[in-house]
Amino acid sequence: MADRDPDCIFCKIIAGELPGTIVAEDDHTVAFMDISPATRGHALVVPRRHAPDVGAVPDEDLAACAAAARRLAVRAKDALGADGITLMNSWGAAAWQTVFHFHVHVIPRYADDPLKLPWKPAPGDEAEIAAAADALRGG
Ligand code: 5GP
Ligand code: ZN
Repeated sequence: MADRDPDCIFCKIIAGELPGTIVAEDDHTVAFMDISPATRGHALVVPRRHAPDVGAVPDEDLAACAAAARRLAVRAKDALGADGITLMNSWGAAAWQTVFHFHVHVIPRYADDPLKLPWKPAPGDEAEIAAAADALRGG
C-alpha cells in the first residue's frame, strides 16, 4: 500500500496540508486533537503511513500507535487531571468508523463526564457464548 492516500484527511493533517492541532509525534506516529472532542483533551493517534483500519495497519505501526497512545494517556492524566482514559478504535462503518486512516482515540475520562457505555451489560446465553468461542477458536 502507498504510504499516503491523496484523498485522506488524516494524511493531509500529517503532511501539514490541512490544519491539525498536533500534540505529540515520533518517527512512526502523529497525535492531534480531535475536532469534535468527546471530552476535554480527546486526541487521536495515527500512523504516519496510511492504512485504512486496524486490519490493514502493519504490526510495526500498530505497536508504535499503541505505545504513543499510552504515552498520551499518561500525559492526559498528569496534565489534565483525567480520572481515567478510554482508548478506542473502530474497524468499519458498522463499528462507527468514519475516517478510514487507522487511528486510536485517546479519550480522557472524568468522574463526572457524560459518556455512557454503549451497551447494557447483562448475562449472555451460555450456549451462544460457547458457540461463538468455538467459532473464534476455529472449531
Ligand atoms: P472514527 O469515527 O473514525 O472512529 O473517528 C474519527 C474521528 O476523527 C472523529 O472523532 C472526528 O471527530 C475526527 N475528525 C473528523 N474529521 C477531522 C478533522 O478534519 N480534523 C480532526 N482533528 N479530527 C477530525
Ligand atoms: Zn491517510
